[in-house]
Amino acid sequence: EKVADGYAPLTGDFGDFYIRWVYHRIHDCFNRPICSSPGAWIDVVGRERLGTSNWILKNTGGVRRCLNLGSYNYLGFAAQDEYCTVKAIETLERFGASTCSGCFDAGKTTVHEELENLVAEYLGKEDAIVYGMGFATNSSTLPALVGKGCLVISDSLNHSSIVVGVRGSGARVKVFKHNNPEHLEKVIRESIAEGQPRTHRPWKKILIVIEGVYSMEGEIARLPEIVAIKNAYKAYLYLDEAHSIGAMGQTGRGICEYTGVPFADVDILMGTFTKSFGSCGGYIAGSKDLITHLRHTSPCHTYATSMSPAAVQQVTSSLKVIMGRDGSRRGAEKLRNLRENSNWFRQELLKLGCQVLGDEDSPVIPIMVYNPGRMAEFSRECLKRHVAIVVVGFPACSLILERARFCISASHTRKDLEYAIDVIREVGTIMRIFWGKPTPDLL
Ligand code: PMP
Repeated sequence: EKVADGYAPLTGDFGDFYIRWVYHRIHDCFNRPICSSPGAWIDVVGRERLGTSNWILKNTGGVRRCLNLGSYNYLGFAAQDEYCTVKAIETLERFGASTCSGCFDAGKTTVHEELENLVAEYLGKEDAIVYGMGFATNSSTLPALVGKGCLVISDSLNHSSIVVGVRGSGARVKVFKHNNPEHLEKVIRESIAEGQPRTHRPWKKILIVIEGVYSMEGEIARLPEIVAIKNAYKAYLYLDEAHSIGAMGQTGRGICEYTGVPFADVDILMGTFTKSFGSCGGYIAGSKDLITHLRHTSPCHTYATSMSPAAVQQVTSSLKVIMGRDGSRRGAEKLRNLRENSNWFRQELLKLGCQVLGDEDSPVIPIMVYNPGRMAEFSRECLKRHVAIVVVGFPACSLILERARFCISASHTRKDLEYAIDVIREVGTIMRIFWGKPTPDLL
């Protein structure tokens, strides 16, 4: 049975060879140390090869100020915010850096409780639970929701944390073609018919797992069609909004708001605080019963130290700004800036002749470079010109579909983005990455 990721496993001859190749040839493009907050501009520490070695790098001590197109700081809350940073510092002084305790023990502070209530209110759900890490939110919630005798139907390009969660759950896992409701319906129909009379459901539960905005593709989920299928087949829907909460929709409430789907139609709303809220951690929002069940059965809630109070406060404060509770219009302005910046940047890349993936309004904007060597060179040449970007290779995407990914922020000015486009034009001309329109069947 194929499991929930579309790509080959990283072990075995090919995986080992590829990892060695990455370490020898292109690893300078990853793990670059940064010595500033992840704002619109960042300080990247210079590195050079040690002696004749191709693969040991040492920091030179020098620092390069670069335009940051790599962080998920969509609303610009992550760096020195006039409201959120002050509140986070106050909380750090009062509560310390860590609770040194799990939520069940002495790890739940009033700050945690306030955030859980605020998230539930923001999303119109009965209750919410917060976790110290976005990855762990998926990987420890999914096994608490499904197990032996259940069926999970997962999008083929779901994030690794979802893959880990469903693999560890003991449920049967099937994959449907990326963001393809027609194929999802085919998989569901076949699974219900499997070895049983059509009227007899062979599964205890069927859970469909999707993302709101896909992090390597910048694509927006076809939520209305997927919700219609889940309702027709009486399945449950789990929606990971890591890249859409606080970034999509008129008031930042994510893909439900963006696509006009009622929040009640998504049973389990998951999201992270590491993007639009400029913090760390994750949440699940849903019915009272669901959240109570998770409080007792989800190991990363019961057995892990709770989220750092200052990080919690950072989320609460940024959420208050988004909701206009700080008495300003900053939240709405940030959301508008993010949308305008993202759409302007996408259009300029298309004008250059880049093969741009994803949908309008998405702040994640990948362009295809196709070849791992070219991908590395593209990253290095942009960095030389003071633009820091993220390049994405196997296993985060398939080997021949390697890409550069730009993450746009409300804190980028138009001048910043024009500068980035000039650099991409110059480097892209050298690297010959202006391929024109994507070939639909290749992607
Ligand atoms: N879900 C998705 C879709 C993600 O892209 C990520 C990471 N970017 C996560 C979950 C994990 O979140 P975190 O980085 O906050 O641990």
